[in-house]
Amino acid sequence: SLGIDWVTEWIRESARVIADHRVELITLDREIGDGDHGENLDRGFSAVIQKLGDLPEGALPGDALKLVATTLISTVGGASGPLVGTAYLKAAGAVGKAEQLDGAAVVALLTAARDGVVLRGKAEVGDKTMIDAWTPAVDAAAAALADGADEAGILAAAADAAEQGAKATEPLVARKGRASYLGERAIGHRDPGSQSSALILRAASDAAA
Ligand code: ADP
Ligand code: MG
Ligand code: MG
Repeated sequence: SLGIDWVTEWIRESARVIADHRVELITLDREIGDGDHGENLDRGFSAVIQKLGDLPEGALPGDALKLVATTLISTVGGASGPLVGTAYLKAAGAVGKAEQLDGAAVVALLTAARDGVVLRGKAEVGDKTMIDAWTPAVDAAAAALADGADEAGILAAAADAAEQGAKATEPLVARKGRASYLGERAIGHRDPGSQSSALILRAASDAAA
């Protein structure tokens, strides 16, 4: 099972990959948005890393997830701050006071995160948003759990599906967010939020490996 060490490593690894892919995310968002997605998330995760040391000894997975949520909501502007922040807030709610997360709890965490993004942004699969990464990831995680995979296997399946989902946004017209103003001009470009979501989910998997 996975505990606070996994959650904090997931957060640190997320901050690292978002920083490493900052320019790539900016470039994607410049093509079909306003070019700030890499900047927005990098600012948010840098603030999270600053605060991570404030977590008390004995902090629970839910406490760390809550810290990410409140920090992202308060430091990331734009559409993605409240969306990703709500994902972490709902993930924190799903794990509750648990010290250790088994496979079912990991699936519940991911499902709650995805549901939080939907609650906030009302996007469906195929709208060319971060949901196009999150929903295949949740489905793959649930399937891996049903197949008897352990936590690392569940997270690896989720990460693979999220990457495929992000790639699958390329031919789509956007129906939510700034890219929806572009109509057919969004075709041929990957949605930046789906790409950052795939990076964050890969970080979750790497942290468990
Ligand atoms: P902004 O568009 O305000 O500049 P960002 O660039 O940080 O914000 O984030 C843009 C990303 O947010 C998009 O690539 C998309 O994945 C995601 N997004 C936008 N609107 C929604 C929505 N309603 N539901 C889910 N995701 C959304
Ligand atoms: Mg933007
Ligand atoms: Mg913006």
